[in-house]
Amino acid sequence: MEALDPIETQVLTTDDVELAGTLLRVGDLVAIPTETVYGLGANGLAADAMDRIYAAKGRPSDNPLILHVCNQSMVHRLVRHITPLEQTLMDTFWPGPLTITFEKSALVPERATGGLSRVALRCPAHEVCREMIRIAGVPIAAPSANRSGRPSPTTAEAVLHDMKGRIHAVVDAGPCEIGVESTVVQVEGDTVIILRPGGVTKEMLEMVADHVVYDTALHDPTEAPKAPGMKYRHYAPDMPVQVLVGSSSAVVESIQSKVPMYKRIGLFLSQQTWDILIEALGIKPTTISEDTHVSQLASFGVGADTQDIVTIIFGETAEPVSLANQLYEGLLAFNEKDVDLLIVEGCKKEGLGVAVMNRLEKASGGQIYIIE
Ligand code: AMP
Ligand code: MG
Repeated sequence: MEALDPIETQVLTTDDVELAGTLLRVGDLVAIPTETVYGLGANGLAADAMDRIYAAKGRPSDNPLILHVCNQSMVHRLVRHITPLEQTLMDTFWPGPLTITFEKSALVPERATGGLSRVALRCPAHEVCREMIRIAGVPIAAPSANRSGRPSPTTAEAVLHDMKGRIHAVVDAGPCEIGVESTVVQVEGDTVIILRPGGVTKEMLEMVADHVVYDTALHDPTEAPKAPGMKYRHYAPDMPVQVLVGSSSAVVESIQSKVPMYKRIGLFLSQQTWDILIEALGIKPTTISEDTHVSQLASFGVGADTQDIVTIIFGETAEPVSLANQLYEGLLAFNEKDVDLLIVEGCKKEGLGVAVMNRLEKASGGQIYIIE
């Protein structure tokens, strides 16, 4: 990672939107809340401001940025044209977690698009975020506010962990609502192509478009991805990650066979599976703390040769919404706990589950096991 001269990072509140918007306009880096994850914002019309995003994140320079707008009228000068289907998508899903790529106008610097002719645009649902963009008066380029390759931040604390001293300010508006990034789409004729699954699901897009397909590169790793960001390892914590998908009892059985092999194992589970596991192992948690926003953290020894099991419960059952909400914060919390292996209980690839499993596939380097 490139060494940067440290800068003082101000922690702002939602009362400071005027200041944040002004800092953004003059080219500073400000981490901003959105409904998906915290973004690392910079003036999306200023190439030098966007250069600072790449430097602060250590982001590969061919991975383009999403420009955030506060309303549809901001779109017109950034794009060459808008097709009727693109218009329908904006009308239906904006403000919200849908990013649409358009042919870019001359106003958009190539720095925003990694040299591509298309620019990715999104209007976030977060009102504080839209207000900052309105005050800035320019579109705001904002990838997730983490160092490249790491889990995305869903709290201001997680932003500071990765970015303190590298950015001018962070606006703390509490935890993000959705927890996984936006869906990225491209319209070709009457077809909506999903380049990256996210907060707006395929089923939701099908309500307004006759043809919705996943980009073939999402299934076939040999194919060049249209969303260049898809080729990089992402969302990865420090330790190895394995994802288990199946009934609670099947997941428990698999965990039981792994526990003896590790000194300190991390489990990111639903309450249901956790209850069955405790029963099966015949143990009781010895410590419980709630030092993070995640719902439960339990650590205890197993057997004479104390092994630790560090557990975070993400929800009652393995539902995509609870996993999405707690995914990145959970991964970051396990980093702090120094586990040798992290086992994550995955969910079905349905609805928001497609986006969650896509992120888990990357976080685990493809270590996904379907067990029945
Ligand atoms: P991030 O902001 O880091 O969560 O990721 C932005 C995502 O949007 C990445 O997967 C990019 O590759 C994708 N993206 C941005 N601009 C374009 C574009 N012009 N065409 C296709 N994908 C894009
Ligand atoms: Mg990111």
